[in-house]
Amino acid sequence: MVRKGKKVAKWSLLLAGLTLLVFSIPELFGHNTGMSSSHGSVGSGKLENAWLLPYRGPNFRYFSPLSYYILDNAYTHSSVYQTILEAYQTCETTCPGIRFRLMELSHKTGGQMLIHRTHQNGMSADFMVPKKRDEKQVRIYDKLGLWHYLLDFTPSGALAFDRSVAIDFETMGKHILALDEAARKNGLRIKKVLLRIELKDDFYNTESGRKVQQKGIYFAQSLTGWANRVHDDHYHVDFEIY
Ligand SMILES: [Zn+2]
Repeated sequence: MVRKGKKVAKWSLLLAGLTLLVFSIPELFGHNTGMSSSHGSVGSGKLENAWLLPYRGPNFRYFSPLSYYILDNAYTHSSVYQTILEAYQTCETTCPGIRFRLMELSHKTGGQMLIHRTHQNGMSADFMVPKKRDEKQVRIYDKLGLWHYLLDFTPSGALAFDRSVAIDFETMGKHILALDEAARKNGLRIKKVLLRIELKDDFYNTESGRKVQQKGIYFAQSLTGWANRVHDDHYHVDFEIY
């Protein structure tokens, strides 16, 4: 009986592994070629010939294998792809030693995604807030995968259940400045950044936050209820073709 049970468990594991492998084939062997086309809006749209971001680079990595390989949510418009990679490259110089995490982008074909109202046409990207304790980067909470979306921060940017950890607004600002510059080089511009309203004054209080404000990079002026609550562990950026 025990032997039979073990055999069933072994075959089930093998089958699960094979299924995961089949689901991951496009991510493991796909190539980015040509240009993408974005249709409709971020709230109701689709994406053709989407490009897949690499899972990791010298100073960044994607935040969830489930989101990347199984849910197919690390795809984006080819120009947003270039913008994101070039911005991380700039950050190698402007934010030395910092490791960034990229969160959900768009589904391979655009359209509705599991936990987002937007992200539908390949022009949206979520970036995990960098965190610090005593001016040193803290990465332990970056490893939560999709659960990271559930982290709560206080209105001044401290992690609610471990207040020794806080959002590194200065680094976040440097990253947004790099995104803005890279977007322009790739025929885009930042249309809108979503960040929990109560966090904006702390962000604008930093040197790079002030520069973001001076450049006129638009942050949502009012967010209510759920939309406001969720934009504390990440900042959401919508790009537009310019
Ligand atoms: Zn988002």
